[in-house]
Amino acid sequence: MRIPNTLHQPVGILAGIGAQTASRLQKLGLYTLQDLIFHLPHRYEDRTRVYRIGSLKPGMTVLIAGKVEFIDVLPRGRKSLVCRINDGSGFINLKFFHFSASQHNALKPGTAISCFAEVRYGFAGLEMVHPEYKVISSLDDCVTETRLTPVYPLTEGLSQNVIRKAVKQALELCQQTPGLLADWIPEAILKQYRYPSLIDAIQTLHAPDESVSVEALQNGSVPALKRLAFEELLAHYLSLRINRNKTRTWQAPSFHAGEAAQLTTDHFIRSLPFKLTGAQQRVIAEIEADCRRQHPMMRLVQGDVGSGKTIVSAYAALLALTAGYQVAVMAPTELLAEQHKRNFDIWFEGFETQVMYLTGQLKGNARKAVLQALEDGTAGIIIGTHALFQEAVNFHRLGLIIIDEQHRFGVHQRLALREKGQQGDVRPHQLVMTATPIPRTLAMLQYSDLDLSIIDELPPGRKPIVTSVIPAERRSDVIERINGWVGKKKQVYWVCTLIEESEVLQCEAAEKTAETLAEALPGVRVALIHGRMKSAEKDAVMQDFKNHKIDLLVATTVIEVGVDVPNAGLMIIENPERLGLSQLHQLRGRVGRGSDDSYCLLMYQGPLSDTARHRLGVLRDSNDGFVIAEKDLELRGPGEVMGTRQTGQMQFKITDLVRDADVLAAVQQIGDDFLTQAPEAVQSLCDRWLGVSTIYSEV
Ligand code: ADP
Ligand code: MG
Repeated sequence: MRIPNTLHQPVGILAGIGAQTASRLQKLGLYTLQDLIFHLPHRYEDRTRVYRIGSLKPGMTVLIAGKVEFIDVLPRGRKSLVCRINDGSGFINLKFFHFSASQHNALKPGTAISCFAEVRYGFAGLEMVHPEYKVISSLDDCVTETRLTPVYPLTEGLSQNVIRKAVKQALELCQQTPGLLADWIPEAILKQYRYPSLIDAIQTLHAPDESVSVEALQNGSVPALKRLAFEELLAHYLSLRINRNKTRTWQAPSFHAGEAAQLTTDHFIRSLPFKLTGAQQRVIAEIEADCRRQHPMMRLVQGDVGSGKTIVSAYAALLALTAGYQVAVMAPTELLAEQHKRNFDIWFEGFETQVMYLTGQLKGNARKAVLQALEDGTAGIIIGTHALFQEAVNFHRLGLIIIDEQHRFGVHQRLALREKGQQGDVRPHQLVMTATPIPRTLAMLQYSDLDLSIIDELPPGRKPIVTSVIPAERRSDVIERINGWVGKKKQVYWVCTLIEESEVLQCEAAEKTAETLAEALPGVRVALIHGRMKSAEKDAVMQDFKNHKIDLLVATTVIEVGVDVPNAGLMIIENPERLGLSQLHQLRGRVGRGSDDSYCLLMYQGPLSDTARHRLGVLRDSNDGFVIAEKDLELRGPGEVMGTRQTGQMQFKITDLVRDADVLAAVQQIGDDFLTQAPEAVQSLCDRWLGVSTIYSEV
């Protein structure tokens, strides 16, 4: 075999990898030696020692040796071969559902065998089902290995052995050829963070020696894994930064402030029913400065629920309109898109522009008309869901993209919309908004291609929401309270949550709740809103609630984001222990929008675990989204905070954000130096970790 001088060589150059195996490896995304080397085992098996049978516990996956005491075929239930072995310290049953006569014959009583499998509770004590086993000459003759056995993710037709051999060869090449597996992390940094060199880290993870425990590998505390997670996160960070630097070289329409434009914006501000807060004015100024430049704005506006982000985005839209450009506003749900549509309709009344609406629900001629208006430029503002970029939408002159509740969308969706608006070299400005104040460490990773503005002030007169944590046994008190509240001409939300991911079940539960509440509360106008209703129905219900034709709105978590009804000042959240803190904070943000006191009752189903109690306490004691997000991270993990589980924002090969959150600080510390001091390494790192899916830096 030729010695490769680069890891970009195809896996086919390795001994034993023919065309067929190569194509199977490709199914796992493994094309090159580099891919293979970074294809880490997803678990390990420990054959380095023989366990005494008497010391086994269910759940252990271990190597044992024993002598066959008896063997029999049991006809009970599914026919099975059962063989009991004993090593003097205890016995265990081996069970086979598929077996041959020769197997049966080979396991005669008195025969010594070694077995490897997971230990379980069986019908008659501990058992191993279909263990790997070998007949040995005596109990002392059991062969152990010096390293843990890696178990790789596989695909059909590929065996552990094939992949183990291939990885082994690739590793040997790296060992023999200095520089083949380039280590771009400077020595000083490795020292500072006590990370091993790349080759050592890789070696450890593919073939851990006795100094590494299975537990440490599984829970991710081994430095080898930390080092790779660090490198992977660094690559993601760098790719986002590169993207951001690139946007600074791009052209964007400059929204010049002519005199006429100035008059229009002044008029707009004057016609608002309220005075902008200082924070809103500051953020507006930041946006204005961005939009006057010739390069695309990439700005994230972070502001707690109710801080008034929508009007800020409307002002940005106005800047685009006055310069003769179109604006696209994308919201994560139809409910929210509809609400924005209503607000924009009001705010832009009397301004010569047409606000239009597009979601996946819009069909036929209505849809055609909207698409036409966008294409010929009659529509100035288009508000919608992700249908805005998924469908055959063409803009006449898109100058600004506004994305609300950014955390619900992936990085990719955000970038895809920008591509849509590209005309020649000119790309639209982008303003994204989020109410989920993600902890700084995560923000720097997820939003490192964006500039940040923070609205850190609520409109005047808002009072903190008084939150109480109460057990479900007090349901009748709660119902009494609703009665009194409605008697004062005020409105109530009742939010149902359910463990099941199933929307159908959630909706059924909400329906039931609405029925029982209506029975218990004669005279109270109860309505229901959930995710499976048609958007027109939802719209009608929301409108009725806004117009106070409904007193009590029973909802699933569809009302989580953005919805705004100031007269609704009481919210009951059933089973809050099932949701993330940030999500609860968002839900709770539906109340507290008026100037009166407002209340949130977290009605839990006992008994609560200590963590759950603690979590709900955080919510009771704080109204500050940032504090809550930090606690959420601490108590639940970044996946929930970032919403990665919903949207799959970032796909990692190795990193687990919950497990490896501690690495982020180092990434940030080093990332920016890297960009300026090691540009060659940056590209190579991104290639290695983001590979063909380097969408961040492609756009
Ligand atoms: P969010 O930041 O959660 O998206 P919204 O933009 O929906 O908040 O604003 C919440 C409510 O506050 C809306 O009814 C909005 O009209 C109102 N609002 C926004 N800014 C102000 C302000 N400066 N003074 C008073 N009310 C405001
Ligand atoms: Mg909002």
